[in-house]
Amino acid sequence: MRAEVDLSGAGAQSVHMPKTPPATRAPSTPLSAPQKALHKLGLVRDIDLALHLPLRYEDATRIVKLRDAREGDVVQIEATVIACDVSYRPRRQLLVEVDDGSEHCTLRFFSFYPSQIKALEVGKRLRVRGEVRGGFLGRTMMHPSFESAGGPLPAALTPVYPTVAGLPQAYLRKAVLAGLARAELGDTFPPEDFAPLNGPGQGGIWTLREALAFLHHPTPDVSLDTLEDHSHPAWQRLKAEELLAQQLSQLRSRRERAALRAPVLAPVSGPAPLYQRLQAALPFALTGAQQRVVTEIGTDLALHKPMHRLLQGDVGAGKTVVAALAAALCIDAGWQCALMAPTEILAEQHFRKLLGWLEPLGVTTAWLTGTQKTKERRTMLALIASGEARLVIGTHAIIQSKVEFHQLALAIIDEQHRFGVAQRLALRNKLLTDGLEPHMLMMTATPIPRTLAMSYYADLDVSTIDELPPGRTPIVTKVVQEARRHEVIDRIRSQVAQGRQVYWVCPLIEESEMLDLSNATETHAELSAALNEGGASVAVGLLHSRMPPDEKKAVMAAFVQGSLSVLVSTTVIEVGVDVPNASLMVIENAQRFGLSQLHQLRGRVGRGAAASACVLLYSTGEAPRLGEAARERLKAMAQTNDGFEIARRDLEIRGPGEFLGARQSGDAMLRFADLATDGHILDWARREAPRLLDHYPALAHKHVQRWLGGKSDFLKA
Ligand code: ADP
Ligand code: MG
Repeated sequence: MRAEVDLSGAGAQSVHMPKTPPATRAPSTPLSAPQKALHKLGLVRDIDLALHLPLRYEDATRIVKLRDAREGDVVQIEATVIACDVSYRPRRQLLVEVDDGSEHCTLRFFSFYPSQIKALEVGKRLRVRGEVRGGFLGRTMMHPSFESAGGPLPAALTPVYPTVAGLPQAYLRKAVLAGLARAELGDTFPPEDFAPLNGPGQGGIWTLREALAFLHHPTPDVSLDTLEDHSHPAWQRLKAEELLAQQLSQLRSRRERAALRAPVLAPVSGPAPLYQRLQAALPFALTGAQQRVVTEIGTDLALHKPMHRLLQGDVGAGKTVVAALAAALCIDAGWQCALMAPTEILAEQHFRKLLGWLEPLGVTTAWLTGTQKTKERRTMLALIASGEARLVIGTHAIIQSKVEFHQLALAIIDEQHRFGVAQRLALRNKLLTDGLEPHMLMMTATPIPRTLAMSYYADLDVSTIDELPPGRTPIVTKVVQEARRHEVIDRIRSQVAQGRQVYWVCPLIEESEMLDLSNATETHAELSAALNEGGASVAVGLLHSRMPPDEKKAVMAAFVQGSLSVLVSTTVIEVGVDVPNASLMVIENAQRFGLSQLHQLRGRVGRGAAASACVLLYSTGEAPRLGEAARERLKAMAQTNDGFEIARRDLEIRGPGEFLGARQSGDAMLRFADLATDGHILDWARREAPRLLDHYPALAHKHVQRWLGGKSDFLKA
């Protein structure tokens, strides 16, 4: 899930700052709340802190007069308190009136401590930083940061870092500063190696240390634009470092793999191979794109070296059947195949689907999950170990050490971006007999354009399904304000009356899983009541992450079978669920979701021939309107159904501040470089990597370690 990014800087109050410096403690000492928050952000090593770059900057180098400040400016003033009162209307707040000799301004605080009231007593001289707003009663600043006036002014801009709840800016600043000072930042490669990237007027060659020191504390004369759009040479230097690490790491693992051997899974010519029987038994013909990727995969499998292929295709493009055909090729050659999916619901669905296709053809398929009963599990483990089960489908339970394959030759990972490094590696390591490696097929619906994918994933071959199965009517997406919720419910009523099924997705509220649950429960009650008014009988189901797996399964099965018409759910249905009769998807508080997540969710409908729709219900909460990025996301959703286009827009809309969320979900390996704008740096890194790896293998290793740390394995997996 995405971390909340605190953009307000409101944590920067000088009063009530934690005093302890962020020292690394012995593991036995319990971590303080801010230390826990640092860990949550992945800020553990000094280098992690040094690489935690500001979202934006505040200029505290100057004191301005209120008279000269325009509305909307973030300024720093020094002023005297002339009134300080707690008011209760319209809600409890602290109102502090200050005068800087040029004008008055009211500081408003909605949450405050008694000690703060004391610090803001009449007569105090304060240095105050905040955004100046106009207002009915004159100028105001909401929750400005403040301290006593008269201290020395900093020489550099003040960084504002991406943070999470419980980690105040001031604490984070100290931690980053300390990390920056301690981190080993000597250049791995001489700065001259980066010279080709420095165009004319790029201000010479920056060392890594210089670039980082500058980005944390830029001098006030810098153009803020070049820092914000990351075009400043210091930014370019960082991106080059990062992309170089990524390319070196991939090149290294490609070379390592070139020496490895894999079982040859050549097509068999005997009577009626499974592969052909499966294709004949399918209820549909493959699309051209599916045929092409199956051929690409088949060609790889027939080689004596491990396949390492990414299969990308939009949601609903039909990747599952490609996986089934690849499995058939593997089984034909006499080997075992494993298919791993990130959630139990998805794994179960794959199991049902593939069982339906393969069981009539005589293939024994095993099923493994973390929650199955011991007895069933034992049976499955035996089937797998003896080799009787030719296909094994499951969640990450597949990679546990107790699971022993008889002869695994092909590992397929669905929604691969949902898995971590270790998990993918573990699956690969399930076949280590006789120096053989299994073939790997990784599937994803989060596409990046093919040409980019090929240069970015230097270590992966990429197959793309760029065509949807025929007969799909495009999904119509509507963005609807929360106030019109009742119209949406009417629409559900009419869909259900036509025998169709409906999803209603409630957002996950990160701060409180309980709140999120109660939301979904309330919506479930609301819809049940509304849809069953006047004696109608509409079955509405509820699915959320806290339910026991058995219940989840039962609800999902009821929806698949059609005995539930409406499914209210938190985002547990997000990946891969396939119910072709569902024709309406309602996403509540759609403004809270990321773009690719919205697209994934929408992909749950429009899977059959019926015209389908997606309603994005949004609410602006207490704010007068939606934030810019949220508006852009909803607009993009309404404008296009194309996953590649969505991915492009996502890259565009995601500000630099959002890398945190992406990084945590594990799907973005890049923190600084942006594939949408940094193609030229990627090209440079791609050209340089082989030379550097050949001539300076030790430096290359050091470089990869610094940037990717434990993550370099990730790129191999
Ligand atoms: P995804 O790529 O998102 O994993 P699925 O594999 O779940 O998509 O396929 C979506 C739906 O399309 C499924 O119901 C599947 O059976 C169906 N399907 C796949 N390929 C074809 C095809 N060539 N013709 C018709 N339907 C297809
Ligand atoms: Mg799928």
